[in-house]
Amino acid sequence: MERTERQEKPTATYFLRRGIRELSSHRPDRAIASLRQAVDAIPPSCSDELSQALYWLSVALLRLDERPLAIKSLASAQKLRRRGHARRLYLRNINEYGMPRQVNSSLDDFYAFTNLQIAYYLGKKSSNRFDSFQEKDAVLRLILDAWKRLSASGQLAGLGACEKLDIFRKMKLHYPSFGLSNTHRVFVRASFGPSRPNSTLKKAAERCNCGSGLPYGQCCGRVQHLKEL
Ligand SMILES: [Zn+2]
Repeated sequence: MERTERQEKPTATYFLRRGIRELSSHRPDRAIASLRQAVDAIPPSCSDELSQALYWLSVALLRLDERPLAIKSLASAQKLRRRGHARRLYLRNINEYGMPRQVNSSLDDFYAFTNLQIAYYLGKKSSNRFDSFQEKDAVLRLILDAWKRLSASGQLAGLGACEKLDIFRKMKLHYPSFGLSNTHRVFVRASFGPSRPNSTLKKAAERCNCGSGLPYGQCCGRVQHLKEL
């Protein structure tokens, strides 16, 4: 006799349950695949369910040590549901820049600076990415060099994260064309001088406009890790 199986279209709930089950069976990689399907299948209007799926997705990502992606997922989850697991896990894992917390504050500064500068560089390119290993290597060297000069200048001593962020955001580097056509030329100022009166300084420490109750710098104004871009 022919066996008939119920062929139901998998629902968001199905993917969510499957993801949580795989997570509890210590298969975070499979859990991530299921939970991503759940996130895609949940309508944005179902904010509680979406927050829950994003939360479990971040737990799975943390198990695989994918911290930047986990933080990205948690940042969205805690915005949808401002009290609960997601908000607590988010705050436990981020630093003052809204990035994955490092072992010390110098590393927090270093990651914020380098990721911001890389994002600026890529943002000026139409492809939005490095076109060659040589290009990436050259850009990273310039950024690292700028970081060394900045940290050695003593400018950052005694400043809070939002003041440092303001300096990072204003510091524009000059990149050569890397032998590419002129369309790839990216001109930016190199500036180590005293920064002008600024707008981001206030904004980073102030409560975010979105109503999350978090400082802007840890909410909509957080520094994105390159992996999130
Ligand atoms: Zn916000």
